[in-house]
Amino acid sequence: MDATRERTWLDVTPRADGGMWRLPLLRARGATPGPRLAVLGAVHGDEYDGPEVIHRVCDQLDPRALRGELVMVPVSNVAAYEAITRLSPVDGANLARAFPGKADGTLTERIARVLSDQVIAGSDGLIDIHSGGVAYAIPTLAGYTASDAPLHQANRALAEAFGAPVLWAHPAPIPPGRSLSAADALGVPCMYTEAPGGGRVTDETLTCFVRGVFNVMRHLGMLEGAPEYAPPRRLIGDGNLDQIISAPCAGHFRSDVELLQPVTAGQRLGTIFNLIGEPLAEVRADRDGVVITLRALHRVNAGDGLVHLTQPQGETNS
Ligand SMILES: [Zn+2]
Repeated sequence: MDATRERTWLDVTPRADGGMWRLPLLRARGATPGPRLAVLGAVHGDEYDGPEVIHRVCDQLDPRALRGELVMVPVSNVAAYEAITRLSPVDGANLARAFPGKADGTLTERIARVLSDQVIAGSDGLIDIHSGGVAYAIPTLAGYTASDAPLHQANRALAEAFGAPVLWAHPAPIPPGRSLSAADALGVPCMYTEAPGGGRVTDETLTCFVRGVFNVMRHLGMLEGAPEYAPPRRLIGDGNLDQIISAPCAGHFRSDVELLQPVTAGQRLGTIFNLIGEPLAEVRADRDGVVITLRALHRVNAGDGLVHLTQPQGETNS
């Protein structure tokens, strides 16, 4: 068969205006059969790293050098991408909590179903590219669900091969609703990324993630050669942003800490001020940990997440 590169669309569901909700789909097929790698971008609409990375991978990949198939969705949540929002502006749902989705559900549930059935199922690996979005900063990292199960060992191998400077292991089981949960249920090895966000992609992240996708293709035997990367810093944690330290009141937040900084329980992490600069509330660490997510947008409302702490990984190597 001929090696091909295709830029096309994946139909999701009809729109009320007679058009169609559809997803951009980039597909490269090698001349010889082999593994299939799936890559998702902008599952959260305000995370623009995925499309930036995926379009460059598509441009740089020579399909004639490829074994198997690379299937990439640069923007998985088109309505949220256009509205610059994390969640869908159509049904208010979080696509990253809607997997494996429903064929007769809301728009977000239907997108999750199409991605589960037509992109994730049948793949030999999944990379879901996330970042901090417009409001949060997160280090450039690769994360995965960890346990001694063979599938989760394959996750770890995938995430290590990706070659991000930080590797974040989340002990199984993975919470429901993620693309990674759908992949886990289908027996597809999977990993995700995080990055500084801010509505743009740093040169460091772009270089790392483009190389990361190529590294994973080498790891899976889709390209010649071995993955190339430096040893990562290892962290462990549940990564559940529902457990983030939240703002007790609205105001202007200023943090005292940096990403990846170790902190101790009780340490002040930042302060919320009113508009004449008077402190309204101090935000303190509820335990020892390492700063893995930091509110980057100064304006906060009561209940907005501010700081998420995780743990350095010990010698368990899990
Ligand atoms: Zn995300």
